[in-house]
Amino acid sequence: MKLSGWGRFPTYEARFSAPRTEDSLRERVAEGRVIARGNGRAYGDSAVSISNTVHMGRFNRMISFDGETGQLVAEAGVLAGDIISSFLLRGWFLPVTPGTKFVTLGGMIAADVHGKNHHCDGGFGNFTDWVDVMGPDGAIIRCSREENTNLFCWTLGGMGLTGVIVRAAVRLRPVESGWIRQKMVPTANLGETIDAFEAAQDSTYSVAWIDCLSKGDRLGRSLIMFGEHATVDELDESRKSNPFKCIPKRKLSMPLSPPAALMNGTFVRVFNALYYRNGLRKAGEGLVDWDSYFYPLDAILNWNRIYGRKGFAQFQCVLPLETSHLGLQALLEAISAAGAGSFLAVLKRLGEQSSRFSFPMPGYTLALDFPMSSQTLQLMEQLDEITLEHGGRFYLAKDSRMSAETLWQSDTRTEGFVQMRDDMGLRTIFTSEQSQRLQL
Ligand SMILES: Cc1cc2nc3c(=O)[nH]c(=O)nc-3n(C[C@H](O)[C@H](O)[C@H](O)COP(=O)(O)OP(=O)(O)OC[C@H]3O[C@@H](n4cnc5c(N)ncnc54)[C@H](O)[C@@H]3O)c2cc1C
Repeated sequence: MKLSGWGRFPTYEARFSAPRTEDSLRERVAEGRVIARGNGRAYGDSAVSISNTVHMGRFNRMISFDGETGQLVAEAGVLAGDIISSFLLRGWFLPVTPGTKFVTLGGMIAADVHGKNHHCDGGFGNFTDWVDVMGPDGAIIRCSREENTNLFCWTLGGMGLTGVIVRAAVRLRPVESGWIRQKMVPTANLGETIDAFEAAQDSTYSVAWIDCLSKGDRLGRSLIMFGEHATVDELDESRKSNPFKCIPKRKLSMPLSPPAALMNGTFVRVFNALYYRNGLRKAGEGLVDWDSYFYPLDAILNWNRIYGRKGFAQFQCVLPLETSHLGLQALLEAISAAGAGSFLAVLKRLGEQSSRFSFPMPGYTLALDFPMSSQTLQLMEQLDEITLEHGGRFYLAKDSRMSAETLWQSDTRTEGFVQMRDDMGLRTIFTSEQSQRLQL
């Protein structure tokens, strides 16, 4: 069947199966050149193997929950959204969440996803107690910080290349309500944006929408959204009696792909200007429901069709703190000069990262979507160069087109990752189109 990641680029004719049992999963693994696929929310080809893609969606049972510690044991195909639906009413939320709830537990562990709280709490791996991984011989090995530590550490952020995650134990976060106390802070330029992030290091959640087409004095102007889980005391009387009840948003759906010509620079520039002006009106504090704060894009189902039939690519890098300002400036100038801005330019402050091969490092991460075209591919190579010059690295869950040379140059940990794959006999068994392209 035709298979791609969320960006719909690249697309492959790939062999696909969706086993229901460990035995049938074992048979697929024995065939080799296999990659586990969660819900296909990685943008590129990390969850695609032409010869053997194994969808984990049928491993979707929750197994146990400890109401004292918040530890949930569940199969890898359980969706983040299902965890929230099952546990928010009992006062528990995901400890770390990406910008969509349509991801699986296995996908969150394999990419060691970061959320808007990375500067405070680190990645999803920090809340993962143990993982059951099916190895190249089909045996399932439990690994944690105490047992089979090596496998555990490489599996967090290992992009499915250490084996198939079958189930895991993760710790949820206690919350008193389903509401987020949001403070929206508009900034006039990049300097102000970075200063505002640095001044708010103790804010649990922070994320900025950055206007990537503004130039000159306005370069890097942003709307920063800080957030805290609201306590019951902070709710108004009408919400106190049922603090987890938030009115579900109506979901819209992109019915088809519009012509790519619609997504041109002028359209994006006007959108960005209006979005910023609208944000200025909403500046200040207010209560926002969890779904709107964490998952605004999920309100439009299939929004990945908006970029047209050729699909789109995301560029996401992280720059170390010392070079962040200059590096971001250079990236934004290149994007603005190319007139190829994105609707979805997101800036986050990342903190320390404890795992072996995960993406984050202390600094700033910029993520942007671009409709696929030859100009986009050229621009993205230019952005790669700027990132390399400033000592940054790239997020594999968003990559669909980087060269092996760029990855190996940007991340000295790559060699250790590949060595581990060789030593453990994983390299011929677990492969994705991305791992082949990047020589992992
Ligand atoms: C709108 C949107 C917003 C996003 N925001 C963020 C964000 O804020 N932060 C962030 O970190 N990421 C973000 N992402 C990326 C997303 O969180 C990751 O790509 C995540 O891995 C997707 O999970 P999935 O279940 O769809 O996995 P897939 O896309 O199917 O797979 C992703 C990787 O995980 C591996 N994998 C999946 N399941 C298993 C398994 N059971 N065993 C072993 N390996 C497995 C795959 O092999 C692949 O390498 C975003 C994505 C979208 C579409």
